[in-house]
Amino acid sequence: MNRIMFKVGGTIISLFLVILLPLGFVVDQIFSGFYYNKMQAEIDQLSSRYADTIAQSSNPMTTKMIEMMGNFTGTKLVIVNSIGESIAIANLPSTISTQLITAGELKLLSRHQAIHKEVMDTSGKRFLVSGKPIIQNGTFSGGIFIFSSVDGIHETIRKIRYLIILSGIGAFFLALGFTFILSKKLTDPLLRIEQATRKIAKGDLQTRVKVATKDEIGSLAQVINDLAVELKRFRDTRSEFFANVSHELRTPITYLEGYTKVLKENMAETEEEKELYLDIIHQESGRLARLIHDLFELAKMEEGKIALNFEWVDLTEILEKSALTARLKAKEKGIKIQMDFQEHLPLMYGDGLRIEQIFTNLLNNAIRYTERGYVKIIMQGLNVDEIQIVVEDTGIGIPEDELSYIFERFYRVEKSRSREHGGTGLGLAIVKKLVELQGGRISASSEVGQGTRFELTFPTKAIHHEREGEQ
Ligand code: ADP
Repeated sequence: MNRIMFKVGGTIISLFLVILLPLGFVVDQIFSGFYYNKMQAEIDQLSSRYADTIAQSSNPMTTKMIEMMGNFTGTKLVIVNSIGESIAIANLPSTISTQLITAGELKLLSRHQAIHKEVMDTSGKRFLVSGKPIIQNGTFSGGIFIFSSVDGIHETIRKIRYLIILSGIGAFFLALGFTFILSKKLTDPLLRIEQATRKIAKGDLQTRVKVATKDEIGSLAQVINDLAVELKRFRDTRSEFFANVSHELRTPITYLEGYTKVLKENMAETEEEKELYLDIIHQESGRLARLIHDLFELAKMEEGKIALNFEWVDLTEILEKSALTARLKAKEKGIKIQMDFQEHLPLMYGDGLRIEQIFTNLLNNAIRYTERGYVKIIMQGLNVDEIQIVVEDTGIGIPEDELSYIFERFYRVEKSRSREHGGTGLGLAIVKKLVELQGGRISASSEVGQGTRFELTFPTKAIHHEREGEQ
């Protein structure tokens, strides 16, 4: 059931009736009043004119003449003398009693006052009456009464009332149609949005709501469309992620399977060969374990379920510790680790172990992808409340078009090379997450063959109190 339509329709129609009914009544009253006044004025005018004519004439026949004129023109009139006796009657229906004038009225007339009244004959017909005194030379000599049936007025008013009702009904149906169109206009896009949203909810993420209006409904449609795009992106990346995960897991497992089989079936000819295979098995199980560990970490971070132990830490101390761990590997490759730290830097509010993990990871990468030259760590205050740390190397570099992807999960610039180094492709994704969880930013710039530079910025103000103890 189209409920908005009924609500809107009901409201409009009620409003319409509330306005139309009193309006009709008022118009009716105005018209009735108008016609009554008009008739009253007409007979007043006539009675005055006749009264004046009689008063100004000295001819006693004038009364008779007026009676004749009344008969001739169909005017209903009665002329009375000074004691209230009818001396001329024209057109007066027999249903009206001729003894119309009460003593009180005669008195009024004698005081030169006019009379207005409404009388009803024996058959129930109503008449407006206008009575005027006849004043001859200053003395009261009688009066003239003109009657006018109000039936004509009633007929006119009935016609007008009929017209008012007819136009009211017309307007009502017009409003009904208008309401129908309006509510359809309102509800149609809503229904379309509902249908599309249902489709989206069922998984048809190509569905888009086609509402192009610029009002609230239009923006609701836009939000739903954006949601569908976002959902699709999420679904696509999720499938891509699962494909990547299974691929990454499959590779070491294939190695493990293959080499255990070789060993089990005693296919290795020499002891050294056996040793080599065992080494590979060990290496691949290590990679598998790392992969699972990294995946788990990343998943926890993405769900916001990682617990960081925030405290005031000294970055210099942490960086020196990371450098110390990396130094051994660097030495093996003949690479120097240089440190250039600004002194008296403020403490940072972060998780010391996680910060160490970030730099160990960056330093390992730098050493891993550098064959000669150096790896340099620079730390300086960037502004009052930020510290900048740069990790740069003179290694193989990253092609410019790939630079923007390196923080993505499983993205590796040179797949075989990364594998060779035992990388999982998750390292930088984890680094980025950890930096962001501590309110920092990370970016990379590089030139192939020249080296790579990672720039990190951390706030020195405690902005993470609320994360404290987060699970
Ligand atoms: P991986 O485990 O493969 O090292 P990472 O997420 O740590 O994965 O890095 C992603 C990719 O970025 C690496 O495969 C590598 O190609 C590139 N990369 C990272 N650090 C450096 C660097 N310092 N020099 C050159 N390439 C780098």
